[in-house]
Amino acid sequence: MKSFRKELWFQVPARRGFINITPEVQEAIDTSGIREGLALVNAMHITASVFINDDESGLHADYEKWLEALAPHEPISHYRHNRTGEDNGDAHLKRQVMGREVVCAITEGRLDFGPWEQIFYGEFDGRRKKRVLVKIIGE
Ligand code: ZN
Repeated sequence: MKSFRKELWFQVPARRGFINITPEVQEAIDTSGIREGLALVNAMHITASVFINDDESGLHADYEKWLEALAPHEPISHYRHNRTGEDNGDAHLKRQVMGREVVCAITEGRLDFGPWEQIFYGEFDGRRKKRVLVKIIGE
């Protein structure tokens, strides 16, 4: 069995944002040379997510609205976590809802996806460099 590891780095200019990272993950698979196996893709930060869904701007706006209704950023004082001096209590909760990682099948060297599946990095406390781990195993 072969294994391959790569970190993808992002700096989202706003506090929140979604980035389609499917091309970067496929590029890592291509570099790995692995044709049959699995790719784990996970956020390495507890205020960011990796998830699979549609690359459709209306849906992304819906996520933003839904997550803000569930865990509004303000008032900052609403969150006990922010008593530590941080202001990202909401970001930890948003990350929990949107998930830490995805595991994808690799078949004949390609992500074995349904027709609309795309991998996203979800940022909930941006404006700084953060990373995603891609770990690929197989043959
Ligand atoms: Zn925090």
